Amino acid sequence: MPALTAAAFIGHGNPMNALEQNRYTDAWTGFAASIPKPRAVLVISAHWFVNITAVTAMRLPRTIHDFYGFPQSLFDVKYAAPGDPELARRIVDVVEPTYVGLDEDSWGIDHGTWSVLVHMFPEADVPVLQLSINASLPYDYHFNLGAQLHALRAEGVLILGSGNVVHNLRLADWNSPGQGTTWAHRFDEDVRATMTTDAAQLGRTSDHRDYDLAVPTPDHFLPLAYLAGLASAASTPARTIIDGYEMGSLSMTSYELPAA
Ligand code: ZN
Repeated sequence: MPALTAAAFIGHGNPMNALEQNRYTDAWTGFAASIPKPRAVLVISAHWFVNITAVTAMRLPRTIHDFYGFPQSLFDVKYAAPGDPELARRIVDVVEPTYVGLDEDSWGIDHGTWSVLVHMFPEADVPVLQLSINASLPYDYHFNLGAQLHALRAEGVLILGSGNVVHNLRLADWNSPGQGTTWAHRFDEDVRATMTTDAAQLGRTSDHRDYDLAVPTPDHFLPLAYLAGLASAASTPARTIIDGYEMGSLSMTSYELPAA
């Protein structure tokens, strides 16, 4: 086992990726195949965006279908990975004095998590925990909390942010598969230049000319702040796993911090 488990940010995009096989899902599968099987996965998903910081602490987290208007086959997906309540308590200790609540019965495994993990760990045999994104706190809080999670990488925990760097559903054009607008390219490429050289500077992206278009709400961007914090704590730049654009206003770029 390497001293530090890999970490990653996955651009999850359309929930239908759970059922499809395409170049993105192939990259997620390939990433999981490239690392030793982790002890557990801790996911910071865009879809658990609430006014508290909490970690799931149930033994058997439920599969949450937090969307509508999709085929029944997507609602039928069940990702029956176990939880790990002991690890949840360990996480509470690791990030002290930052407060993290133990969630015994509220959340579970949302589609930001399972649409990716069905490809990474199809056997659902790796315990899964989710850490909520505290919507009431600014970027720096999330970046610093990410850095505080660094110790878990030495304990075999795979930390995974799941969101999208560019995520503007209001401007999404369903007739533009595989396409990105000029501003989407510009923003995603500038974020990539930062992540792959000095991820500690990611917070400056809020001054980018395209920020308000690319990040109209912070939920899908903030999971990347956790990877930036981890990159900073390890003093290693991120590497691009895959990139791409969908529907004009979505970028699918994924990053990893290699095992070390
Ligand atoms: Zn999403």
